[in-house]
Amino acid sequence: MSAVRASPLGPDATIGILGGGQLGRMLALAAARLGFKCHVFCPEPVSPAFDVVRRVTEADYTDKDALDRFADDVDVITYEFENVPAETAAFLAARKAVIPDPRVLATTQDRLVEKNFVTSLGIATARFTAAGSPEEIARAMSAVGTPAVLKTRRFGYDGKGQLSIRAGVDPVAAWRDVGMQPSIVEAFVPFEREISVVVARGHDGRIESFDVTENEHRDHILKISRVPAAVPPAVAAQAHEIAARIAEAFAYVGVLAVEMFVVPDGVGHAVLVNEIAPRVHNSGHWTLDGASVSQFEQHIRAVAGWPLAAPVRYGRVEMINLIGREVEDYHKWLTQPGVAVHLYGKTGVRPGRKMGHITRVFV
Ligand code: AMP
Repeated sequence: MSAVRASPLGPDATIGILGGGQLGRMLALAAARLGFKCHVFCPEPVSPAFDVVRRVTEADYTDKDALDRFADDVDVITYEFENVPAETAAFLAARKAVIPDPRVLATTQDRLVEKNFVTSLGIATARFTAAGSPEEIARAMSAVGTPAVLKTRRFGYDGKGQLSIRAGVDPVAAWRDVGMQPSIVEAFVPFEREISVVVARGHDGRIESFDVTENEHRDHILKISRVPAAVPPAVAAQAHEIAARIAEAFAYVGVLAVEMFVVPDGVGHAVLVNEIAPRVHNSGHWTLDGASVSQFEQHIRAVAGWPLAAPVRYGRVEMINLIGREVEDYHKWLTQPGVAVHLYGKTGVRPGRKMGHITRVFV
């Protein structure tokens, strides 16, 4: 349980952010606009968020002295990534309020626990079963059917720790290919679309969600988000309801994203939850330019104990990630009508690395 903060922060307060990637950078920029100072804690010396904040700590997440000083310096702590080590979160939570409550991390850091949690709420997912050995992979493949996807329970993102498996695959090779890590086998979902809902829940329990976003991935990495998603109103309503139910069940404070598959089921569509991200999310970047409040500001408001804004979308919006060397073409977007360019200040272009994004608003 994290230390409870009694009252809303004043606008001169300092918000601590664990993690210094682009999400931390955009959170800090949103916080600055509301008058807050930020202190970013991150082990990597060159971190995009370091460039835009008042104070930084470059230290390992296990460095108790550094964590202590960080907690002393800030009024509240939040995080931009879900793999904050449990021990770090507990250490900090004993000193300052950590929002969202780190107990959420215990669920979302482990795909098996997360999927069990989602199904316990009566929400559908792909068929799945745990697999911790080649024998269990073989058994799981018969249980869920093939094709299937083998995913490590922990530390998977952007398709890392994931493997497609077809009938006849050698379970020993598959087990080796996921690094012999505790995993799940999940039925392959023949989805029509991938969508997500970014939802915010305030201290007072009020929920505000952004419009359902449609997401196109390339090589397992988000490439384009489009809003509104081209889904029937009943699917959009169901997606919103699922995201709200998850936020409620966690008694969540802050922004979270729920990624879902939309699957034709003969009569209409089924909506299956793929993943929960207890943080601001790439599929919500369009809100920076396409809505009256961004996901980043909503998160900062929630963390600060401020009221959430009621978001209004300005039109149809498209967000395109600039991945790897695509960023070198950023200038071609600078003069396009309705386009806003966001560069994360990362040095070192690597394939698959998110370097920036653009949003295009069509009114
Ligand atoms: P994840 O890391 O679970 O978010 O997966 C990354 C991407 O892989 C998803 O956005 C989908 O495009 C694809 N994917 C993951 N799981 C499945 C599945 N069970 N069936 C079909 N595609 C999947």
